[in-house]
Amino acid sequence: MEKVTVIGAGTMGNGIAHVFAMNGYAVSLTDISASQLEKALQTIDKNLDRMIAKQIITAEQKQATLKNISTTVSLPDAVKDAFLVVEAATENASLKRDIFRELDVHAPKNCILATNTSSISITRIASATQRPEFVIGMHFMNPVPVMKLVEIINGYSTKKEVTETIVELTKKIGKTPCVVNDFPGFVANRILMPMINEAIYTLYEGVAGVEEIDTVMKLGMAHPMGPLQLADFIGLDVCLAILNVMHEGFGNPKYAPCPLLVNMVTAGKLGVKSGEGFYDYSHGGKELIVASRFCK
Ligand code: NAD
Repeated sequence: MEKVTVIGAGTMGNGIAHVFAMNGYAVSLTDISASQLEKALQTIDKNLDRMIAKQIITAEQKQATLKNISTTVSLPDAVKDAFLVVEAATENASLKRDIFRELDVHAPKNCILATNTSSISITRIASATQRPEFVIGMHFMNPVPVMKLVEIINGYSTKKEVTETIVELTKKIGKTPCVVNDFPGFVANRILMPMINEAIYTLYEGVAGVEEIDTVMKLGMAHPMGPLQLADFIGLDVCLAILNVMHEGFGNPKYAPCPLLVNMVTAGKLGVKSGEGFYDYSHGGKELIVASRFCK
């Protein structure tokens, strides 16, 4: 069985592990935090149950999927014999470069090193290794088991054969690849994040409340989820990190993050994963928060 290593067991890492394991790959999931690994396995278990309830998979397929996943806090152990690594650790350039430097030492010689970064330059991450031609962006969408798209990003040095392998692999795991070039935010977040940031500005300037902004975009633009709820779902820290990368990368003030977003992240209000963002998730559901909290 071919082995895939997934680095980072947060929102994205558990979904990526889930999808590869469900498609017959041996997955080694690694994180610096053992409790995150435990939490990821619980999330995968719950999401597989959801798939059984929707008759997408059988109970036997669930067991086979879980059997394909192992966890470890040791990166060298995790990458042993892997043909592909998908890095899905925190959105931070120097952290990712450190991980890739370590991967370069421990991963097999021809192992492809993919990153799930939302916005950071693939070329910059690749330059931390001695094998930039084997480094590529493999940007899954959230929630990974549900969303079809994988944005595939060629770094400056990515080898054509590596791109072709990743395109084929993406199809094999039931997803649709879309190949793009390496500029800040790529395509998905270059278009999505300015919209989310503008929604936050609209709230901050008191034009409308959270519910009104999300309702306008849901019913008016036929979006399945309003931009503020989507931001909570992505993680406000992730949104801020992406906007900062685009702001710095293009040197254009139109990407400057709204001060309200900066404040919320500083206060630890990160959305669904922390229990509170533009909505309150601490009681299980999604509840509105007093509107004055957000205005100038
Ligand atoms: P997250 O905060 O939920 O999880 C990040 C995980 O990385 C944490 O479990 C953390 O412990 C772990 N980590 C940190 N340093 C590590 C290290 N040195 N080695 C191993 N693990 C480490 O973040 P996330 O939302 O899952 O995002 C992960 C990546 O995926 C980011 O690059 C992000 O931009 C990208 N992404 C996120 C979304 C989204 O909707 N959240 C969508 C697409 C891509």
